[in-house]
Amino acid sequence: MARNIGALCRLCRREGVKLFLKGNRCVSPKCSFEKRSYNPGQHGKARTKLSDYGLQLREKQKVKRIYGVFEKQFRSYFKKAEQQKGITGEVLLQMLERRLDNAVFRACFASSRAQARQMVRHGAFTVNGRKINIPSYMIKRDDLLALAVKKEVYHKTLSESFKANMDRGVPDWIKVDENQLTAKIVELPKREDVRFPVDEQLIVELYSK
Ligand code: SF4
Repeated sequence: MARNIGALCRLCRREGVKLFLKGNRCVSPKCSFEKRSYNPGQHGKARTKLSDYGLQLREKQKVKRIYGVFEKQFRSYFKKAEQQKGITGEVLLQMLERRLDNAVFRACFASSRAQARQMVRHGAFTVNGRKINIPSYMIKRDDLLALAVKKEVYHKTLSESFKANMDRGVPDWIKVDENQLTAKIVELPKREDVRFPVDEQLIVELYSK
């Protein structure tokens, strides 16, 4: 699976907003965006006024980078969202929220979506008792996420990770059992569950040209 191995902090500076790609570092004074909140590169400090197309493009890039999805897959999500009932932009965001790696992150089992993706890839979780190692797997209502390996050491590591990340808050659509370290999907995520600022209509306009 493709993944971004470039300098992640540059992506935040490029989008002009913190994308929280590096877990705990993002909420520490070490965050690059806190120190240099201008564009990366030689002319990063120059003021540029974006065209309508530029605004649409930046919004799409921002969402892609937050969820760690590349262009081909993102466009495929958009096509599927267009075919579903509802407002396309909202359906698109809901689909991204339903990715298994995102659910693991939102359940506070990982410090970042990248870490959650790695855990899923390594087969750390089961969904309804079946081991799933596909980060893009779409969770459904009533799904139960649990640790795949029952060994004490894994339980301890995940428990510590949950405690370290729980300040972030678990959204209402996930119910975490702290002792069993399971996460139940009690309902599907809604538009208002997307917590970063995004104007999804700009993405719809971009892809509708
Ligand atoms: Fe972005 Fe700051 Fe996290 Fe780097 S540390 S990825 S700049 S939020």
